[in-house]
Amino acid sequence: MPELPEVETTRRGLLGAVMGQKIMAVTVRRYDLRQPIPQTFAKTLAGAIITNVRRRAKYLLIDVDSGHILLSHLGMSGSFTVRKRAGYEPKTHDHVIIELKNKTLMVFHDPRRFGVMDMIKNTDEATHPLLSHLGPEPLEKDFSPRYLAAQLARRKGPIKPVLMDQQLVVGVGNIYASEALHLCGLHPSAPAHTLATKAPEIVNAIRTILKAAIASGGSTLRDYVGATNEGGYFQHEFKVYARDSEPCFSCTTIIETCTHAGRSTYWCPNCQPIGGKAQKT
Ligand SMILES: [Zn+2]
Repeated sequence: MPELPEVETTRRGLLGAVMGQKIMAVTVRRYDLRQPIPQTFAKTLAGAIITNVRRRAKYLLIDVDSGHILLSHLGMSGSFTVRKRAGYEPKTHDHVIIELKNKTLMVFHDPRRFGVMDMIKNTDEATHPLLSHLGPEPLEKDFSPRYLAAQLARRKGPIKPVLMDQQLVVGVGNIYASEALHLCGLHPSAPAHTLATKAPEIVNAIRTILKAAIASGGSTLRDYVGATNEGGYFQHEFKVYARDSEPCFSCTTIIETCTHAGRSTYWCPNCQPIGGKAQKT
């Protein structure tokens, strides 16, 4: 499933490829995504010029000069790629094709159709039901140690699902919550309120993990135009995620797993003891 780094990678790829381009034609081949694509979608976009490509949580927001925003989510299996018009033949799951003046196509591809393609007025962004409840961005200043400490202090549940709560902070999915807790040596089952004093380390770890993932995603961007549907993504090197029963890279202790809120969690019992690591003297 695309997480924040994949969406940010897609955003950067799209921004470089489509910024300032005029939309010549829009073809919607299937309307029935997670929520139906508005019937006015193609007509609203046609003729408009793309003025920005932004990201909020895992949503892509493509601004156009008609005062609208194309709001997109990649869902479970979606991708948004740019390719040359010449020689392009639509594939089965290419649901939306946006033709640009520079003879390229933006193609939204989504086999499982959990993605979103919506059209909103730019004045409705702050109140839109998909966007209005979202917490701060993890890489922005308002996700501060002080903010996180206050949030953790009033939550009794295990830390890992707390970090995945989109009202607390957006874009920390299952993979990055596990990896960030490993990086800062905290047990994923530790009660959140006991970790308020660890907020600076947690904020740092989340940012470090996300930035590293975005940076490695960036390495595929050179090939973005003309890429296949897999082209916008990258392979991660996980330290704990999906490594249950394998040895920890740091200490060779066997990685353990359990579930929190129905999602698999992974940790090293030596590097991430309950109660946190003893302070080194
Ligand atoms: Zn370890």
